[in-house]
Amino acid sequence: MTINYDTSVGADGSAHDSNLATPSAAATKIAIIGAGMTGLMSAHLLEQAFANCGQALDISIFEKSAGVGRLATRYRNPDLHSEQQWQFDFGAQFFTAKSEAFQAYLQPWLKQGVIECWLATTATANGSQSKPDIELTGHWGNEQPRYISSPKMTSFGRALAAELKHTKLYYKTRVAPLSSDNSVNQNSPDTAAQTTLWDDKGNELGRFDWVVCTAPQAQAIELFEQTDFALLDNLKLPKMLACYSLMLGWEQESTLPSALKKAQWEVLEVKQMNSPLGLIFIEHHKPGREAILPSVTIHASNDWSESKVEEAIEEVQQQLLQAAQQLLSWEHTTAPQWIDCHRWRYAATAQIESYNPSQISYVDNSKQWLVTGDWCDEGRIESCFKAAAQVVEAIAT
Ligand SMILES: Cc1cc2nc3c(=O)[nH]c(=O)nc-3n(C[C@H](O)[C@H](O)[C@H](O)COP(=O)(O)OP(=O)(O)OC[C@H]3O[C@@H](n4cnc5c(N)ncnc54)[C@H](O)[C@@H]3O)c2cc1C
Repeated sequence: MTINYDTSVGADGSAHDSNLATPSAAATKIAIIGAGMTGLMSAHLLEQAFANCGQALDISIFEKSAGVGRLATRYRNPDLHSEQQWQFDFGAQFFTAKSEAFQAYLQPWLKQGVIECWLATTATANGSQSKPDIELTGHWGNEQPRYISSPKMTSFGRALAAELKHTKLYYKTRVAPLSSDNSVNQNSPDTAAQTTLWDDKGNELGRFDWVVCTAPQAQAIELFEQTDFALLDNLKLPKMLACYSLMLGWEQESTLPSALKKAQWEVLEVKQMNSPLGLIFIEHHKPGREAILPSVTIHASNDWSESKVEEAIEEVQQQLLQAAQQLLSWEHTTAPQWIDCHRWRYAATAQIESYNPSQISYVDNSKQWLVTGDWCDEGRIESCFKAAAQVVEAIAT
């Protein structure tokens, strides 16, 4: 498969066109908007389904950023000459597989070592913010394993992308909002609908039999707002919540504050009243991450993050830092040498009343448009798999 990082296109978009797939006439052409786990798993499952019934397939995935979705890893070196680095999985830290279907899907990736089980030791922080009380609570067991991807959380997405055979990936390509004019033929009973997509610079991206949108909710609404997509109102029902990730790095174990130096836990749930902190993860205690410099990722609680979503990131960082310092009680000599903060506007899905787990994709069959993503379900990586399975159900059966 081709991975295209080059976004330099001619004014007429010709460079783009030359990179697009040149399918056989019979191949079903599918555009997927978004190369997060939903987009990548959709492509992967579609390829399997079409191969099983011997049909030709030609998928293009368009991703506006330079990498794969909300699985995110950030590296930092303390200085230019240092080979050692901090490593933060500042999006999803791990994922679960509750359904048998997802467990079965993960087996080959487990065998290949792309993902592995994380049987973390857990603890909770109670007490007041000025007098915290940290207590060990146990281990994540084998009965419902948590998985991480190795050597970093983005590895799974990259491995999925590398596995795709009938899919071209176009990074740094933002699909422009659709209009009802994008879709042609939908009024003819003999011809299936086709949709022409454009990028935000006005370059044509191709004409497709199906358009599958896996963008986060707000971006999906923006993409379809100017169309007569039959299910537009349904897209507005789920509510997404923000999350701030605070990343802290120390140059050596010896300068860690004692709460971290002596920590027997890898995951700490903060339950203190009024604390902005949600979960704390010790990155260098995860399996396979032993070589990284001491690195800690803290996810703020979703409710607190949502209430601060429009605040300046520097102020949010300061508030999180203060809470983290109180809990982990560092002094001048044991303070982190690296501090960074990231705002995720669309990190989790709040439960909605109309939620129906068997219906997590919105399909307009007359136009052959489908909108889905983790936000249509529970906002987890397993939701991406469920969404991808529904993409296959709508298109390949
Ligand atoms: C802080 C945090 C913690 C989390 N913790 C967990 C956890 O513990 N366990 C768990 O299972 N899950 C967790 N998650 C959720 C998990 O990361 C998501 O469920 C999953 O990554 C979502 O994948 P997706 O493909 O549905 O969406 P995304 O990853 O958001 O992918 C959608 C893609 O669409 C692209 N896009 C949008 N608009 C356009 C456009 N116009 N043109 C082209 N591309 C576009 C975006 O750039 C994006 O890459 C967490 C997420 C966050 C942020």
